[in-house]
Order: sequence, then structure tokens, then C-alpha cells
Amino acid sequence: MNYDLPALLSHVDAHIEDSLERLKDILRIPSVSTDPAFADDVRRCAEHMGGLLRELGMETTVHDTEGHPMVVAHDPGPGTDDAPTILYYGHYDVQPADPYDLWESDPFDPQIVDHPDGTRIVARGADDDKGQLMTFIEAMRTWKEVHGSLPVRVIVLLEGEEESGSASLDPFLESHRDELKADACVICDTGMWNRTTPAVTTMLRGIVGVEAILHGPGHDLHSGMYGGAVLNPINALSRIVGALHDDQGRVQVEGFYDDVDEPAELETWQGLGFDEAAFLASAGCDTSVGEAGRSVLERTWSRPTCDANGIYGGYQGAGGKTVIASSAGVKLTCRLVPDQDAEKIRAGLIKFFEDRTPPGGRWEFLGEGAFPAIRVPTDSPWLQAALDGLESVWGTSPVLMGCGGSIPVVGSFQSILGLDSLLVGFGLDDDRVHSPNEKYDLSSFHNGIKSHVAILGRFAEAASA
Ligand SMILES: [Zn+2]
Repeated sequence: MNYDLPALLSHVDAHIEDSLERLKDILRIPSVSTDPAFADDVRRCAEHMGGLLRELGMETTVHDTEGHPMVVAHDPGPGTDDAPTILYYGHYDVQPADPYDLWESDPFDPQIVDHPDGTRIVARGADDDKGQLMTFIEAMRTWKEVHGSLPVRVIVLLEGEEESGSASLDPFLESHRDELKADACVICDTGMWNRTTPAVTTMLRGIVGVEAILHGPGHDLHSGMYGGAVLNPINALSRIVGALHDDQGRVQVEGFYDDVDEPAELETWQGLGFDEAAFLASAGCDTSVGEAGRSVLERTWSRPTCDANGIYGGYQGAGGKTVIASSAGVKLTCRLVPDQDAEKIRAGLIKFFEDRTPPGGRWEFLGEGAFPAIRVPTDSPWLQAALDGLESVWGTSPVLMGCGGSIPVVGSFQSILGLDSLLVGFGLDDDRVHSPNEKYDLSSFHNGIKSHVAILGRFAEAASA
């Protein structure tokens, strides 16, 4: 369909105050999904979101689940047979606002605050994920108001349990598989490269964890009477955990790197001008440590890791106690990269410990569940459409980013719906997501709406090309 991008974008400019008011209305609803005390507010927020989508003429249902409601809206698009269907995902629930006394204003009374880096809106959910999801909903409103319809078919799926484990998501996707059939999917939960450079996240690391407990003596022992003559599980476990990495920082689990590739994006990452000093400062560190010969971006985006997250055993109280503990344990997680098999890595970890079982020792292993890493194909026409749309609004080439963390919904969309996700978001590193005084820059909100306006048009063009 023909469309007038300049007219669409100036419509966004002319109505930005209204868009902001609609965002504030949503931010006033304390839709904290993890705390049952807010269950009515979560439902109220779902109904409110449903109302907004209905207002746009979308066929909208607020579905009950075992947990919080799932909002699904369908829009027929331009009414042409060849229009593609794009699924948009966001979540309307938020993290708890505690501790309240660290907020400079009421977390559920959004404030517009001037700041040297730019004006921002401050509230719980301002970025994660209400501000972000309103960028595409307001973009859809713009298309409707200017051209009367969307240029592609659209499904909007808004979840209410993202911040509390998404228990209902996979069963819902399974039971609504046909209804949610789409050509591509857009997830708005990610960030920009920096304040002026947009990004699409194309790699997300996965995760697998193991807790290994080494049992030794039948009970805690006096270290004078038994020390030096029996197994000390803390000594033995520490030695084994220490052997997980060699002097070059490489993980020593058998087969750990077998399926690890060098990503196609590597070269572009080198040209990004990553501010390593600022990254280290944000961690309170003055040097990066990790796999030898690898940059910080590789270490966090494209290389797998193995980290002890907790280690325990023996006496932890005040003063000393001359004891040999009967057991000691470590909680480990590995961040995975694309093509690594989580179960193979878990088995490798367990074998690593078993191969080193000290005389008189016996292992117990806990932990289950894993997310594989995700890679979005960089040759996808949908990705190209998103990049073109972003560039037309921001006037600069978007960055293809990796992300060290995991976004489980991306895996669910891939495994259940067979959909690759486009991760396009406008969050900034200093947005204080999950923390007191969460904010979203008005430039993120305003240009985010414009970006989705442009991307919708590019999606339609990509489909007809
Ligand atoms: Zn969150």
C-alpha cells in the first residue's frame, strides 16, 4: 500500500502529548505480577490495555489464564491477501516498586523530569515494559489516524506474568498456536546501542545451571581430632571449582567449546567504539578478566561462560570454629551461545565433578531447566526492514547487538510458534529497570513511536518485494 512517511512522522510529533498521557494512564496502574496483593490491579491493567487496542478497531480478547490475563488483539491490516502478519509482543506487568523510600516520587504517579541528558518520564514500568510497548501501540494508532488502516496484518500479544516467571506463556502459545500464526515477530524489551544510535539485538545467550554438593564425613568433625586424616569437602570442592578454568580463562569442561562459532557480527562489533572504561566503571572494576585474546563484547555476547554464583559449607558465624564440615556445595551457571546444547553442557559439568571425586567423597547434583541461546538470522528480510525503518528515523545505521542475558519468550516463540524474533527496543543502560526511579527518555518514547511507524511501512514493502 502507498503511504506518506513524512505525514505519518509529523502526525506523531503533533500528537506526542496525547501519546504521553496514554502512557501515564497505564503507568498509574500498579500491575505488579509477583505479589498477589496487586492481582486486581494486574487485571485492571489488562482490561485497560484491551480497551486501548479495541479503540484502534482491533478485535481484542482479554484471556483468562491460570495466572494473570493475556491480551490478544487482531488487526486485518490493509485488507489485501498478500499482506504479511506481524506479531508484536510486550508485557504490561511490572516489578515491585520496593524499596519505596529510595524513590524520589511515587512510583505509580509518573513524573516528567528534566535532566541534562534529556527529559524523561519516571515511574515503575516507564521503560520495562509499558513505555516500550506503547511505542508500537502508538505507532499503530498513527497509521490508523493518518491512513485509516495498518499496512500489514497485526497481532498484538501482551503478557501479564513476564516479571514473575511467565508460567502461563508456553501453555497459552501451545493452545493458541493457530491464532498466533505470523510471518515475523517483534519484541520490544531490549535497548539501544547508545542515546542516539538504535539497535536490533540478534544474539541472546542462553543459560544452564548445576548445583554440586560434595558429601564427605558422616557428620561435622573436630578439626583437631580428625583434621589431616579425613576428607575436607570444602578444601576438595574449592580445588575442583578452581580447576574449571585454565590460566587462559578457558572453561575446562570436556566438549565445552565444540559447538561454539565465531559470529558473523564480529567485525561490526570491532568498529562500534565500545567504551570499555565506562563498562568497567559501571561494574566498579578497573580491568576486564576472562578468556584470553577476547574483547569485552565477545566475552559478554558471543563466548560461553561458567560462573560460580554461590559456594557454601562449614561455619559461617562470628568468630572461629574448628570444624571439618561434612559437606560443601557450589551453585554454578553457564551462559550459553548459539548451537551449544544445554543438556550436553549440563552432562559435561556433572562429568567434570565426577571425574574428580576425591577419595571418601560422594556427589549430589541439583538443578534443572535451561534456555538455549538465540540467534536471529541476519539475512532475514524482516530484519533488513527493521534496520531500514530505524535508519530512516534516527539518521544513523542501527547496530546489530548481542545480549549477555536471556529473554525466555524469544525461545518460546521459536520453539512453539516457529518464529524468529526481531528484538527492537529503545531502552538505555541508565534506565534503572527493576530499580527505584526507573525512567524512560522522552526521546526513546518519541523516536521509538516514529521508528515503529517507519518499520510497519517497511514490513509491507518487504512482503511485496
Ligand atoms: Zn523486567
